[in-house]
Parts: sequence; structure tokens; C-alpha cells
Amino acid sequence: MFDFERGPLKFIRGGKYPHCHSLFIDDARRAFVDAASEKDILKALDRENPIHILINSHGHEDHFIYNYLFSKAQFWVHESDAPMFRDIDKLIDCYDPTPSERNHWRKFIAESCYYEARNPDRLLKDGNELIFGTTRCRVIHTPGHTPGHCAFHFPEERVLFTADLDLVKAGPYYGDVDSSIEDTLNSLERLASIDVDVYLTCHGRGIHEGNPEHIHRYAAVVHEREEKLLEFLADGPKTLETVTAQGIIYGPPRSLSGWDLSVSESAMMKKHLEWLERKEMVNSENGCFSLIS
Ligand SMILES: [Zn+2]
Repeated sequence: MFDFERGPLKFIRGGKYPHCHSLFIDDARRAFVDAASEKDILKALDRENPIHILINSHGHEDHFIYNYLFSKAQFWVHESDAPMFRDIDKLIDCYDPTPSERNHWRKFIAESCYYEARNPDRLLKDGNELIFGTTRCRVIHTPGHTPGHCAFHFPEERVLFTADLDLVKAGPYYGDVDSSIEDTLNSLERLASIDVDVYLTCHGRGIHEGNPEHIHRYAAVVHEREEKLLEFLADGPKTLETVTAQGIIYGPPRSLSGWDLSVSESAMMKKHLEWLERKEMVNSENGCFSLIS
């Protein structure tokens, strides 16, 4: 039933969009972090003994798709992502959609991800200690992917649940309107300083040895993207469209689980160009970006 167990911590893989891996905390107060993996397993655990607490690492739709099954549980999320759970439009706003994309998103999130507006019972903050019985967990606020993204540190079990700072080869995602490259890098640095045996993530392999090198390698992808972008701009001024077509992050245009990756490519390249502008390495004029020599 579980893909990893350490004491009360039990890990359920199932992380292909619009799903993600889940963590089950099997203690006096039973809890799920990101109930979006295997529906049957999550339901069976609730039948065996009701789930008391439902935690979301952040507000993305692939992390809450089975929340609706646990309407009696207490619902805890970080205060900065709480608006995404209270109002579907706040979630859709993150993707900066055109009016027709907004309709598509609303239908997809409501019908395929079972969105139900929900007011959190507890707003998590960095450093909070969560107590489930004998199990204790520290909330590590790790903004960047979303403003309220959190990791969860279980010091006794020496486990760190890093959620969507997911250590996949492709590197981190920071393509939402409110995503931030700098915050992502700072959050990763913070996670790398936490001494644990195991990292659990929401996508990809899910279970990693707690070696900070895994986090450093993942963060290095961000710098590699920037280097490739600088190399491309060295050729002469480029528009965002031309930069996107270069496929620095995801390669040639393609879709993944029905999602057009060029949308993410464009959003993330825009973040990189803005970051380079803040660092005064790039200048933008009439929609064209050029290197400042
Ligand atoms: Zn996410």
C-alpha cells in the first residue's frame, strides 16, 4: 500500500499531473499532506479510521484533487495560498489566462480536479510546529513556486517533504504570475541546510536520499537556463516569442498530459528576462530584449 514508511510517515506515490504523491501521517490525529495520489488508498485509510487533518503544501490543482472526499477533516494551508482555495478565480489568476483560457481552466479545475471552494481552518506560517500525537512537524515556508508553498520537516523521523520543489531532472517550475526565481533559489538553499535522511517530493521519483547535492543539482538547472538564455541573447535582440521558440527549458514545442509546455516555457522565460533586467544585464525596448554590454 505504501511506497515508503518511516515510523508514522507513510508515502503514497501517484504523482502524474493532475495528481501528485501524498504523505499520510498515521498518528492519533491522522493527516494527509496533498491528498491527490491514489483515490482508493486514500479512501480506504479514511474508512479504517477517519482522517482528521488535510494539509496542502500549496494551491495548485494537482495537489487537491481528492480534498473533496475529506470534507470533515480540518483543512490547513499556508496563509499566502489560502485565497486559491477560497476562490477558484484566484487560482486561475495565477496562470494569467486570456478570457477563453479562463473558461477552459475553470471547467478543467472544477470538473477534472473536483475544485470545491474551502475556507482553511488553520493558516500555516513558517516555523509552526504541527503536532499529530507523538509526531511533530515543522512548517518550512518555501515560496517561489507559489507564494505560500511549504515544505514539512519531521525532525524525529529525519524526513523532509519538499512538495513541488520536486528534484526532477527538468528543474524547478516558477511560471505563475506570483512565482519568483529568487525566492525559489532561496527556498532551495534553505532546504539544503536541513539535515535529514530522506527527501520526499510530490512528483518524479518521490523518494530521495537526504543528500543536499540533489537539491544543489536541481537549483543549478536555474543557472543553466540563464546561461543558455544569455548565450542566445548574445546573438542580438530577441522578443519573448523568439526566446520561447528556442525551447531552452522544455525543448521543442510539445504537450505533457494535455498541457502545452510552450505556455510554461514563455512564462518562465519572461521571469528570467525580468530577473536579468533587475540585475541590469538585459535591457528591454519595444518588446525586444538585448544584452547590456
Ligand atoms: Zn505546484
